[in-house]
Amino acid sequence: MSVERYPYLKAEDPEIYDLIQRQIEMEDTTLKMIASESYASTPVMEACGSIFTNKYCEGYPGARYYEGNEVVDDLENLAIARAKELFGCEHANVQPYSGSPANSAVYRALLQPGDKVMGVPVSDGGHLTHGWKVSFSGMDFQQVAYRPNQETGRLDMDEVREIALRERPKMIWAGMSAYPFKLDYAAFAEIAKEIDAYLVADIAHINSLIIAGVHPNPVPYCDVVTSTAHKMLRGPRAGFILSKVEDRYQAKYHAESKWNLAQRIDRAVFPTLQGGPHMHAVAGMAAAFKYAQTAEFKAYGEQIVKNAQALCAELEALGRSIAGGGTETHLLLLDFRKEEFTGKDAAKALAKCGIIANFNMVPGDTRSPFKTSGVRLGTPSLTSAGMKEPEMKKVAAWIDRVCKNIDNIDEVAPTIRAEIAEFCRGFKKPGIGD
Ligand SMILES: *Cc1c(COP(=O)(O)O)cnc(C)c1O
Repeated sequence: MSVERYPYLKAEDPEIYDLIQRQIEMEDTTLKMIASESYASTPVMEACGSIFTNKYCEGYPGARYYEGNEVVDDLENLAIARAKELFGCEHANVQPYSGSPANSAVYRALLQPGDKVMGVPVSDGGHLTHGWKVSFSGMDFQQVAYRPNQETGRLDMDEVREIALRERPKMIWAGMSAYPFKLDYAAFAEIAKEIDAYLVADIAHINSLIIAGVHPNPVPYCDVVTSTAHKMLRGPRAGFILSKVEDRYQAKYHAESKWNLAQRIDRAVFPTLQGGPHMHAVAGMAAAFKYAQTAEFKAYGEQIVKNAQALCAELEALGRSIAGGGTETHLLLLDFRKEEFTGKDAAKALAKCGIIANFNMVPGDTRSPFKTSGVRLGTPSLTSAGMKEPEMKKVAAWIDRVCKNIDNIDEVAPTIRAEIAEFCRGFKKPGIGD
């Protein structure tokens, strides 16, 4: 870091200060390739560390349960207006504490406990909150599973339709945590319409690709869209919900309710599930939304995918297998099904060398979820650091070198780790180098 930050912590709580310095050092000198991470910008972190931490403001702008919220009302309205402009939606709620709470609010607003919800299992790239058994969503609702084809790694929309017609879920989730291809929201919308199901897109992983116009915007096709703010969007750890105002199935599923869709979502977030909103996080989110409107951000969104594709091509040229044979997103899945080592072995070896990723199931995986045959690699952090195609070549070469040396990783790790640290220091990261 070029500037001395955190002088008060340094003086008053050196233990926390030291931990911050260690984390900065780690994020500054490693290749951060966890697909759900990036670097929050300095303005975002300033907003998150601001006076808005102090304020209690249960309720919504103009209708709070505490006094003294004139400024906070302006802040929340600004965040909402920016979200609506960014995604072209009718309604936005910026209060969810994170992505999972946003998704639980959607269940509350749309369904009754016991209802069927269609989602992709975690083992196939879906999220916990899409009906997985250890999550509230799988305990209180019945998951109807659909998954990418085990051979092609892609969703087969005819198969999705067949399952939907057979099972008739009341809600369909479209959006995953480990899927490297674009989603066909129009096809999802047709299927949902055929069975009178709500369609909810979860864009936690890909929101910036949508903002950049690299991926289609699900808003016109969906009843509700949920997202996080902290992944590739580079905002604070928080969530938000976008929706239509009217519920097209009000008469069918919510005839007894006097609230429309937007009102039911707001009421689900507060007071059903949450108390006071985290306004410092809302301030950070608003700052992230503003930056997301810039041409620079659009270029970032485009480069994320170009980098993932360059990385894919380079790894394939080095003889590595990629699940599904490529990517249209920010992530790719290295496929180690034919290797003797597991995904977990590879992720641990990569981490020893300064490449931070996670082990992950791949389509057709026969190993357990605790070992797996894959590693998920994402490019948002590297792209945020300013890396482009030429750098992806170097990254691919390091990954390949680690894979070739899994059996003697402790011998080679110090050398590779030092090379990567020196390489990474040459790039300025948002929130660290700026
Ligand atoms: C990350 C993620 C979420 C939300 O996660 P939190 O960790 O609760 O913020 C929701 N859906 C998908 C698809 C995700 O990848």
